[in-house]
Amino acid sequence: MRILLDSFTKTFGDVTVIKDMNLDIKSGEMLALLGPSGCGKSTTLFAICGIHGMDGGRLLFGDKDVTSLPSQKRNVGVVFQNYALYPHMNVWENIAFPLKIQKRSKAVIEKEVQAMAELVQIEELLDRKPVQLSGGQQQRVALARALVRKPDILLLDEPLANLDAKLRLEMRSEIRRIQQQTGITAVLVTHDQVEAMSMCDRIAIMNGGKIVQLSAPEEMYRNPSSDFVAGFLGNPP
Ligand code: ADP
Ligand code: MG
Repeated sequence: MRILLDSFTKTFGDVTVIKDMNLDIKSGEMLALLGPSGCGKSTTLFAICGIHGMDGGRLLFGDKDVTSLPSQKRNVGVVFQNYALYPHMNVWENIAFPLKIQKRSKAVIEKEVQAMAELVQIEELLDRKPVQLSGGQQQRVALARALVRKPDILLLDEPLANLDAKLRLEMRSEIRRIQQQTGITAVLVTHDQVEAMSMCDRIAIMNGGKIVQLSAPEEMYRNPSSDFVAGFLGNPP
């Protein structure tokens, strides 16, 4: 689904951290919000999922204005670095949980959990508790749990930050595969330019609460719009 932020403004106390941001996320694309620590990436993601209210502007999911809808009433899937699995539930129960909240039938839940387990390739782990999983497996389960409700948008905030280098590489391509296979619209927040380049259709580079350039990865390398963008991207991988 197309997601539109129109003139989004966010303040904390008397500090404006995002001012008049416009962002048009195309249906089915994976877009990176890339930039240095503190530039406002997570704040933007939190506004889309509704964890934070907005102090100005509008947010549309398709044609629907969700600006003042609370988080529970938005159909979003989130995978955050610190948004842990429920430790007392096994993998099956973790994935089923969003559907139980929606009071879906047992048959539907069985079917959808199975489909998600196949999608993220953890069918043999359904009986395990989260502590019995590797970091990469935990992120697969988190993705399944986020996607099981068929959200309008998948929001990923530094989902690879806690993984070791080898798993990070593996999960880069796995997250991209899952996104493409489901065709879901997704936003990836990262401070890692290689991650953004290798996983996303388009990259929005942020600095100081603003989007300073928004383009496809190759275009950004060829035509950085400023010294900041050129410096931040460094050399092509
Ligand atoms: P990023 O995710 O790009 O590292 P954030 O969106 O988390 O950056 O933060 C953007 C700015 O807003 C930072 O200066 C941060 O200190 C500030 N900020 C974020 N959350 C809060 C909050 N709850 N209260 C006050 N300031 C905040
Ligand atoms: Mg952040």
